[in-house]
Amino acid sequence: MPKIPVKVVTWDEVVEWSTRLAETIKEDKYQPDVIIAIARGGLVPARIVADVLGVMDVLSIKVEHWVETASHTPQAKVKYAYRLDLSGKKTLIVDDITDTGDSVELAKKYVSENFSPAVIKTATMQYIKPVAKVKPDYVASIVEDWTWFMYPWNYWEDEINLVRKLMNEGVKTEELEKKFLESYGVKPPVPLQKILQEMKRRDLLS
Ligand code: ADP
Repeated sequence: MPKIPVKVVTWDEVVEWSTRLAETIKEDKYQPDVIIAIARGGLVPARIVADVLGVMDVLSIKVEHWVETASHTPQAKVKYAYRLDLSGKKTLIVDDITDTGDSVELAKKYVSENFSPAVIKTATMQYIKPVAKVKPDYVASIVEDWTWFMYPWNYWEDEINLVRKLMNEGVKTEELEKKFLESYGVKPPVPLQKILQEMKRRDLLS
């Protein structure tokens, strides 16, 4: 049975961590002109940080790395690449979590090479200390033991992937509820019945 430590994150925690992140940035007296969200994980935190700091310009770049819950592709890549002139601007790149650190590193290099801003700083709500290769300039919450965080904007995707892992191990529909709790240590936030219906709609059930 796959054993993956999972934590279900609530909207309140997202607001708390993102607000704290913005407050840390204020304390450092850094006022970005432009916030660049790393899509998709950084979209919600970036919007909250922009609200707390009073930043009107929020852009996004799409970085692909972890394509499936708790398993990542070897290399982070920018999808839908574009160029922009941000010369003279102070920027802040925002993501949800620094896990390996690859996405934030890639985004920083990409922004520097393609947007040419005056300053680039990086910020993530969470930072997994034992595995991250780099530390962003600003973090709100330090994680000591690797965990998969189910963010509220990702409940359906994560649950589908976690259920698929169980099914690939031969777990039957009737045992899903019990095995989900045993394997991941949490109750699924979206009822499994709905997840199975959605998997059927997406043609993910054989
Ligand atoms: P970073 O470069 O910020 O460390 P990664 O390349 O490790 O990010 O991961 C890319 C994205 O995958 C993250 O922004 C997040 O959306 C998702 N992700 C990675 N690790 C986790 C995790 N432990 N829990 C939840 N989501 C994660």
